[in-house]
Amino acid sequence: MTDDDYTTDTIAAIASAPGAAGIGVVRVSGPDVPRIASALLGKPPKIRHAHFAAFRGANSELIDRGLLLHFPSPASYTGEHVLELQGHGSAMLLDALLQRVCELGARLARPGEFTERAFLNGKVDLAQAEAVADLIAARSQAGARAALQSMEGVFSRKVEGLLQSLIALRVHIEAAIDFPEEEIDFLADPKLAQQLASVRSDLAALLHEAQRGVRLNDGLRVAIIGRPNVGKSSLLNALAGSDRAIVNAAAGTTRDVLRENLVLDGVSLELADTAGLRDTDDDVEREGVRRAHVELHRADVALLVTDTLHARADQILFYGLDHPVERLVLINKIDLDGDAAHGEQRDGCRWLWASAKTGAGLDALREELRRLAGAGSGEGAFSARRRHVFALQRVEQHLNAAAHALDTLYAGELAAEELRHAQQTLGEITGAYSSDDLLGAIFGSFCIGK
Ligand code: GDP
Repeated sequence: MTDDDYTTDTIAAIASAPGAAGIGVVRVSGPDVPRIASALLGKPPKIRHAHFAAFRGANSELIDRGLLLHFPSPASYTGEHVLELQGHGSAMLLDALLQRVCELGARLARPGEFTERAFLNGKVDLAQAEAVADLIAARSQAGARAALQSMEGVFSRKVEGLLQSLIALRVHIEAAIDFPEEEIDFLADPKLAQQLASVRSDLAALLHEAQRGVRLNDGLRVAIIGRPNVGKSSLLNALAGSDRAIVNAAAGTTRDVLRENLVLDGVSLELADTAGLRDTDDDVEREGVRRAHVELHRADVALLVTDTLHARADQILFYGLDHPVERLVLINKIDLDGDAAHGEQRDGCRWLWASAKTGAGLDALREELRRLAGAGSGEGAFSARRRHVFALQRVEQHLNAAAHALDTLYAGELAAEELRHAQQTLGEITGAYSSDDLLGAIFGSFCIGK
């Protein structure tokens, strides 16, 4: 696709949810908008003015009555001329209106094409455009609030701030390379080390916030693990408030991975009840165990369900988890052995005592999960996607390599090269550097009309 496409053709789509509160919207964007608007209204519309109009077909037949608004380029969502036609929420009427707009010269928009144009016209950057889709898809209030922050540019501004510090650092180092005789003196300047240290700590903070942003956006992924019959399925049911997982008194019933999405006081969780982890001769169950391990690798939280007797031994299930994952140990069935519900910190894990059967101690578990999911993280919490986190992690690697090059090798060129990569990788988040494939994947996942 060339830039020309964006100046020569006009797109249109129904931009409201079907039947949404009785109002339906057809949105049009492109250079033909003034002509299409005049044709529909019978005269040129006033800009940013709500005209009450009768929308008529080619033979003057009435399609619908409603509001017509013209937002002229460039002060519009897409940066192009935009027309909004608000009519009644009937799917039939909206289709007829859309068809009329297409007769007048527009074509049907692809999914996400309005936002894609907004991006290509510099109205929003890529992270903001992604936040539009995330806002629409938000499953929890905290997720929606966070997506709104990203849409408003909170995340992008942090990325931009880091980018500027990185550029300042590059300028400093590249200047040193230009003066080979004094290069070592330049590179050994403590100010330079300080500057790099500060960029690295800013990046670490941003990475942490972005990871929380992913949890707010996608929901916290919790893998429930433990030996068979400790009460994993019962716990999932108790948290989800349904009988989704089959609870059975015979060991080894939960062979597959059961997933439950739930919203806990405004934050979203994805709970996965994995098979009882243990060595087994049963092929089907072995497959279940394998899936449980896969599940652990994609989880944010490993929730080990066990009992007083096996708690120590069962922690072996945490071994071999080579990626950072929060660890919770839940001693279940306290109704049987007389323990009281409480919580404490032990061996880098949070330990909780509860009963899936009576519900004792489950509020503390819910509170812990809410905290891990990013609840109450304040006004500025923004949403992010895994792609952003991966990019920030790569930036971190480049900065580590740059620090190594400077501190131990005094190799300015090497450090400069790493910083150049870091800058480019950071630019992928906001779309300063992006491939057509990436843009296609991002905008293709939008709904039509956005
Ligand atoms: P899983 O194999 O780990 O998924 O275990 P289940 O959830 O299927 O539970 C196994 C058995 O333990 C069932 O008979 C449950 O009713 C029982 N159970 C689960 N949680 C509790 C609990 O907190 N207290 C008591 N007394 N029984 C429980």
